[in-house]
Amino acid sequence: MRARALVDLAALRANVRALRARAPRAQLMAVVKANAYGHGAVPCAKAARQAGAEWIGTALPQEALALRAAGDTGRMLCWLWTPGGPWREAVEAGIDVSVSGLWALEELCAAVRECGVPARVQLKIDTGLGRNGCTPGDWEKLVAAARDAEEAGLLKVTGVWSHFACADEPGHPSIRAQLDVFKDAVAYAERQGLAPEVRHIANSPATLTLPEAHFDLVRTGVAMYGISPSPEVGTPEELGLRPVMTLSASLASVKRVPGGHGISYGHAYTTPGETTLALVPLGYADGIPRSGSGTGPVMVGGKRYTVAGRVAMDQFVLDLGGDSAEAGDEAVLFGPGDRGEPTAEDWARATGTIAYEVVTRISSRVPRVYTGEIPDGAGETGGDRTAHGSDNGADEDAGA
Ligand SMILES: *Cc1c(COP(=O)(O)O)cnc(C)c1O
Repeated sequence: MRARALVDLAALRANVRALRARAPRAQLMAVVKANAYGHGAVPCAKAARQAGAEWIGTALPQEALALRAAGDTGRMLCWLWTPGGPWREAVEAGIDVSVSGLWALEELCAAVRECGVPARVQLKIDTGLGRNGCTPGDWEKLVAAARDAEEAGLLKVTGVWSHFACADEPGHPSIRAQLDVFKDAVAYAERQGLAPEVRHIANSPATLTLPEAHFDLVRTGVAMYGISPSPEVGTPEELGLRPVMTLSASLASVKRVPGGHGISYGHAYTTPGETTLALVPLGYADGIPRSGSGTGPVMVGGKRYTVAGRVAMDQFVLDLGGDSAEAGDEAVLFGPGDRGEPTAEDWARATGTIAYEVVTRISSRVPRVYTGEIPDGAGETGGDRTAHGSDNGADEDAGA
């Protein structure tokens, strides 16, 4: 195989269990937007369910509908809507829809009148992130309209929720301010007669650092994939998490060249002396950041090298110096790190981005290969598990 992203579903399940242990009184929503941060939405959602995730969360309604089509029947929420829906499809599929404003409530109610199925609605308050969500100033109007629609039998308000701006910087003053606004918004909605099943604001960093923010439900994305939200929150090991994705490729060419040889477009790198070059068949079309030119770390034969010259669309070069390798040898761009390979965090540091982006941008050109799957119906709940015939069943005990 040219390249692959190996996705360890046993690690994902262990991460879900570790996160549930951090928020023992809350339900857990596995956030699988953007193809599960590049890991593959359908297998990751299934693995998260097996580890006890009560909820699945997506940004787009289309992402939630695709998971229903793939057979997921549990609670699901999607939150990024634009005029036109698909409201009716989501309501008929029993997906909770997030509403941040009156235009959305009106479109939703029209769809409900058409199909005759009451909607499950979660009202979103903007407590300070400044993205989606109803402003505190408009909250009374939105709550009143939702309550009227509920009394008319069109919908049930199942949730009140919000999202943090700076939870990955523990102690940031905005965190407390957002919590205060959130508590007020929930209390107001309840005084007006709404009885949400779930109140929630915590993403991965708040789940890991701020028990006060757990409320009824925590929404974990990045941590479920074994990646720390930020260095301030801790390393994956400190947090009891294991990176789920390993990105590797087979060397496409290995050759000796003399000193003074320019490498890749622009000759941004020149061999300092006679040396061995290895060609890695991954490029920016595969989601390797072009900003990894001259900076990205890669392991070959147990040793780390740095991308020599520019990352091109399909390939980049490593200068192995005096070391030897052969075409077909494995180059590991990132993984859990326990074989000495770089991590997604290392790539993030090397390319001036966050590890969220490093894994999410790996494109569909790279096949996902799954390990650690457990068969359908062999569910796990909480820490209560039995051994299943997976090829790395030993990992099942990692979180025990
Ligand atoms: C992406 C997202 C999450 C998950 O965030 P992580 O930091 O990856 O845990 C939670 N809630 C909302 C609204 C999101 O968009």
